[in-house]
Amino acid sequence: MDIKSMTIAQIADVLRELGQPAYRAKQLYSWMHVQLATSYDEMSNLPKALREALAESYPLTVLTKVVRLDSRLDETKKYLFRLPDGNVIESVRMEYHHGVSVCISSQVGCRMGCSFCASTLGGLVRNLTPSEMLEQVYAITRDMGTRVDNVVVMGSGEPLDNYDNLLAFVRMVTDENGLHISQRNITVSTCGLVPMLRKLADEDLTITPAVSLHAPNDELRKKLMPVANAYPIPELMDAAWYYAEKTGRRMTFEYSLIDGVNDTPALAKQLAGLLRGHPAHVNLIPVNPVRERNYRRSLVKNVLQFQKMLENEGIHVTIRRELGSDIDAACGQLRRHYEESKQELKV
Ligand code: SAH
Repeated sequence: MDIKSMTIAQIADVLRELGQPAYRAKQLYSWMHVQLATSYDEMSNLPKALREALAESYPLTVLTKVVRLDSRLDETKKYLFRLPDGNVIESVRMEYHHGVSVCISSQVGCRMGCSFCASTLGGLVRNLTPSEMLEQVYAITRDMGTRVDNVVVMGSGEPLDNYDNLLAFVRMVTDENGLHISQRNITVSTCGLVPMLRKLADEDLTITPAVSLHAPNDELRKKLMPVANAYPIPELMDAAWYYAEKTGRRMTFEYSLIDGVNDTPALAKQLAGLLRGHPAHVNLIPVNPVRERNYRRSLVKNVLQFQKMLENEGIHVTIRRELGSDIDAACGQLRRHYEESKQELKV
């Protein structure tokens, strides 16, 4: 395991083998996770010989910024980062009235196969390590010089398909010895891996869950999301309410609106029927068109009508505010275009 993915106890074991006292573990942890050091040279209160030994055997995971796209309309920044093994991932920094939010990727690519999503087009390459998830937050903090208040795991990848690393990441980013972001300010979005959602409910965490629903019946949902074949809506809803009950958190359901596909009044009514009487919130997302697919985003009047119908049934609804719409390529498109242009250069 790379040292930036280790707990303080695990680091203490490493240091003990190097003949170091236990208190050094906390110092090293703090350099990595509070000062956000990118090299051992910066760790001035560690003995030089120790820094050299660590640099030799435990290289620090650091992300390299490949590009940063700055919105001209607002403060949104979209980053493409290179991982130590050469793969690239995307992250986004957004400013809201309640602070700075960073949207991170949890995998390189994705194997869930949702038909409207660009991240899954090339399949899954690999899981991200805890340190690679942390580093997206750290690299953006270093780049901008301001604290990150909220983390949303809604970039490329299915976080619950990378369960153990996700959990280690959540524990570390909320740790009082690290950035100490409140658990409530961490949102994890899943396409609906039911057993993993139930497992997460039992972890004794207060992170905010989000379920990508996108259709209120299995027939339509199966066309959009292959995961619906494995976990039908009744099982998914049971798991969602179980989560809400265990954690006291309201469930957010994401619903990306695709013109003529899932945005009709009849479907809004059906959706309301699933949620009525439960602690639910719906986040409507006008779909981002992906070049390789021919989906169009719903007309504004249909989005508003869909919202109104849900509200009339007593459901709490928001429409995702469009930040950075000028750089708002759908998740995964920046990475895709980058990989394609590299291919073209090779020929
Ligand atoms: N795998 C997780 C996180 C994915 S991205 C999940 O499925 O929840 C976060 C949200 O964006 C998900 O709801 C996903 O379905 C949605 N999404 C993906 N591609 C989109 C697109 N082109 N337009 C609008 N929403 C999209």
